[in-house]
Order: sequence, then C-alpha cells, then structure tokens
Amino acid sequence: MEQTLSIIKPDAVAKNVVGKIVDRFESNNLRIAAIKKLWLTSEDASRFYAVHEKRPFFKDLVKFMTSGPVVVLVLEGENAVAKNRELMGATNPKEAEKGTIRADFAESIDANAVHGSDSSENALTEIAFFFAKKELA
Ligand code: ATP
Ligand code: MG
Repeated sequence: MEQTLSIIKPDAVAKNVVGKIVDRFESNNLRIAAIKKLWLTSEDASRFYAVHEKRPFFKDLVKFMTSGPVVVLVLEGENAVAKNRELMGATNPKEAEKGTIRADFAESIDANAVHGSDSSENALTEIAFFFAKKELA
C-alpha cells in the first residue's frame, strides 16, 4: 500500500467543499490515514514549496497558501500517488479533465483547490513535513 500527501488548499476550504473533495478520495479507494486542518505560516509554505523557490510565481504561491486555513491529509491505497494526481486533474483547472477535482472546484492556476505529492519519494518527505508517525493510523 502506498501513501501520498494531499492538501486541500485555502480556496477550497473557503468554499466549504472539504467534504466533497474528501468523498472523491474515499469513493476511489483511497483511505484517510491522517487528516488535520491548519493555517500555514509563510515559513511553512516557503519550506514546503522550496523546489519552486526560483520560479516567478513563488511569492504568489506562498501568499495564496497562507491566505486561509488548509486541510492536510495522508491518503493510502494502491498506487495512491498516481491515483490522487489523476483525481486532481491538471495544474491549470482550465486544462483539467472533466470530473476531476480541479475541473469541478478550482478557479485558476493559483487557486487550484488541491495539492498532491508527485512521486512516492516526495510523498514520504511531504508526509513527514506535516505528520508524526503516531498520527498515521
Ligand atoms: P501542487 O504541487 O500544488 O500539487 P502541481 O504539482 O500540479 O501542484 P506544480 O508545478 O508543483 O504543480 O506547482 C505548484 C503550484 O504552483 C501549483 O499548484 C500552482 O498553484 C502554482 N503554479 C504552478 N505553475 C504556475 C504558473 N505557471 N503560474 C502560477 N502558478 C503556478
Ligand atoms: Mg507539485
């Protein structure tokens, strides 16, 4: 069984669609191994998205990710990383396939509703960023 990290971003939390998004995961055989709501600081968001530090959109990304609370989850299931990415849809909601989370709940490439780990290796790092071992059950 593989695990992956998901973040329901501030736009989706503000829209009150946390339950609808969580249902997408559970209805597609991804189990919730951990879940919590928190408000990221700029330092948290900068560290989490450090790979994008040099990108022109980095400042806006950090600003957006700290604009309101987020819900962070560890999803578990067969091919959880790839399955979650499939359920999320393309980074730009305008390019996301019909029926994906981003197509249905996101407005723009900045406010794109969810984050998902992009490899099993990054998933391990990202899970450890948010959760202690005893919080995974
Ligand atoms: P995430 O990492 O949030 O799951 P992703 O893996 O689909 O999204 P990345 O390339 O890792 O996309 O980019 C991280 C985030 O940075 C995106 O979710 C998006 O909000 C923002 N972003 C990416 N590319 C752009 C861009 N060209 N313009 C503005 N924002 C962008
Ligand atoms: Mg990414």
